[in-house]
Amino acid sequence: MSKELEIIRLRKELTEFSRRSFNRGLVSGTGGNISVRIPGTDTVLITPTGISLGDIEPEINLLMRIDGTVLENPCNLKPSKETAFHLAVYQLRPEAGAVSHVHPPYATAYSNCVDRLPMVTVSAQGVLKEVPRIESAMSGSAELYEYVKAGLLKYPAARVLLMEEHGILAVGQDLKTAYYLSDLTEDTAKIAFLCGQIKK
Ligand code: 13P
Ligand code: ZN
Repeated sequence: MSKELEIIRLRKELTEFSRRSFNRGLVSGTGGNISVRIPGTDTVLITPTGISLGDIEPEINLLMRIDGTVLENPCNLKPSKETAFHLAVYQLRPEAGAVSHVHPPYATAYSNCVDRLPMVTVSAQGVLKEVPRIESAMSGSAELYEYVKAGLLKYPAARVLLMEEHGILAVGQDLKTAYYLSDLTEDTAKIAFLCGQIKK
């Protein structure tokens, strides 16, 4: 497939997984942002800022180089305010094919209270292995970008990070994997919470 056709296909796939994330309740309002690497390149598509993941359309996503240069912006929108940490993931993890940042309620509640998500199921233990937490900082800040980079370096085996008082960051080889990792993380947090209720 030509690069042009691959980009068109991925614009659609990014739209599909953005909407699925919203419809699944992994994020609300205009929160969250998702990106995908064009395979074999140092270019990515990323969702724009301030638009609900439930309302993403293929043409509103921006094509960028991982050095931050905007290559295609057909609707003249601003990229997500978390673009810097998405690009840092692709720079620090060459195997990364997609990044999902969402605000799922149970996992976010755990991010406020514990320094790692309890791995309460065999699926979590097998697939997620560990979900450690990075420190809190304002959305879109240089500080948050630094904390994400530090977390990626400190926990090289972690594919999902809890972001204190904020949400989660999942890194997959493709969009489907990043989405499944986010979904499994939220489900694990729900089950951990239920276990806590039953034990009381
Ligand atoms: P954007 O709308 O800029 O992507 O920001 C949403 C968000 O989740 C910030 O952390
Ligand atoms: Zn966020």
